Amino acid sequence: MSERWQIVVVGAGPAGLAAAKMAAEMGASVLVVEEHARVGTPVQCAGFLPQPHELEELLSIPHIEEELSIVSRARVNTTSLQRMVAPDGTSKQFEVDGWVLDRARMDELLAKSAARAGAEVLPAARLERLASGGSGCALTLDVRGVRECVKAQVVIGADGPLSKVASQSGLVRHRSKSDLAFCLYEVRDGVEVEPDVVEMYFGRRFAPGGYGWVIPHSAHRANVGVGSRLIYGSGARSRLHTFVHSSHASPKLGEGVAVARGGGLVPCGMPPKCTCTDAVLIAGDAASHVVSTTGGGIPLALAAGRLAGMCAAEHVLHGRELCEYERLWRQHMLGCIEGAYAIRRTYDVLFSRDVLLSVAMRLLSPIELKSVQQGRVWGVRMRLACALAGIVPPKC
Ligand SMILES: Cc1cc2nc3c(=O)[nH]c(=O)nc-3n(C[C@H](O)[C@H](O)[C@H](O)COP(=O)(O)OP(=O)(O)OC[C@H]3O[C@@H](n4cnc5c(N)ncnc54)[C@H](O)[C@@H]3O)c2cc1C
Repeated sequence: MSERWQIVVVGAGPAGLAAAKMAAEMGASVLVVEEHARVGTPVQCAGFLPQPHELEELLSIPHIEEELSIVSRARVNTTSLQRMVAPDGTSKQFEVDGWVLDRARMDELLAKSAARAGAEVLPAARLERLASGGSGCALTLDVRGVRECVKAQVVIGADGPLSKVASQSGLVRHRSKSDLAFCLYEVRDGVEVEPDVVEMYFGRRFAPGGYGWVIPHSAHRANVGVGSRLIYGSGARSRLHTFVHSSHASPKLGEGVAVARGGGLVPCGMPPKCTCTDAVLIAGDAASHVVSTTGGGIPLALAAGRLAGMCAAEHVLHGRELCEYERLWRQHMLGCIEGAYAIRRTYDVLFSRDVLLSVAMRLLSPIELKSVQQGRVWGVRMRLACALAGIVPPKC
């Protein structure tokens, strides 16, 4: 392995791999380091992705068609409806065309395309320490138990919600428990679900400050999980048990058996004030590029990664300003992130009592619920729901 690279990407998730592919295509020398022995595993994702035309409605994210077409080859199911079930059991549904992805395969496909573009992807290589100085960065890696040092003109931190790159470069100093959620899921066989309907269930008993989900792989297999914010304490395992065995979802799920399990942290706060230094960029979960109403981060990670790769390559090849990255991702993604965050803050109040949430969900039409979930709408009824909850709707 060479000791000097123009760009080193830390983390081989969607953000890092999109960044690596873009930068390598533009002609930069790119190394991707990934701490796990195999890209894509262990899986820490439920694998739901709205289809490209839905994403177009949601975000003005630039040019990720190619990434989405790669990702689409990992789909195991296609869905067309989303149902939201209130704590009192009433439900509303709206149309959302979605893909259910095999996330391990998705990351593998993205890694192959980054490698084809010329990036070197190095698994079992964990970043231990990052030091940035005048002419770039020095990275200390643990590669299969051996300490190695590499140098880079630019480092892209795409190393997830607890990003070392973000903390060691000083871009993120503190992560609040209120802006992180923990999600736990099982893939269950033998369930009886509608294969084209993704369901979100709300209720404090199993998902305080979050929701439970059923994402079908087929009529008899589904990814079933719960996500709750860290401020509501630990207990994800028992909440998942409650969701599966004693919630409105149980009649469909209880008979099944778990064939796989996974979990992980999801950032659900705002991105840091700055995501760029003279030699470091952060993208994806590392920079809280997430729709915080749902925790969905795949499309934003792909988009931010691509922009980071492009700006890093422009910098090392043509001397352009690295901080162009900051301007670009904010231009294309900030509206959606801010809108979702504002709505998540409102949820915080509604979530404090199941009855409030049930009333609010009754007040909203299915289309409004869809927009709220995407972080987009503040109609009259949303204001009424807020008024009922005794809160002033945040500006977005
Ligand atoms: C349980 C769960 C379910 C989810 N479900 C969905 C969903 O259905 N749809 C959706 O859109 N989003 C979902 N998300 C969120 C989504 O997975 C993330 O937003 C997305 O993966 C972010 O991509 P990323 O590349 O920024 O980070 P990640 O995918 O987290 O990738 C970061 C990579 O960096 C590596 N890494 C970390 N530290 C180091 C280090 N020091 N050195 C080297 N490598 C390192 C990690 O091993 C990892 O491979 C879910 C998240 C969780 C936890």
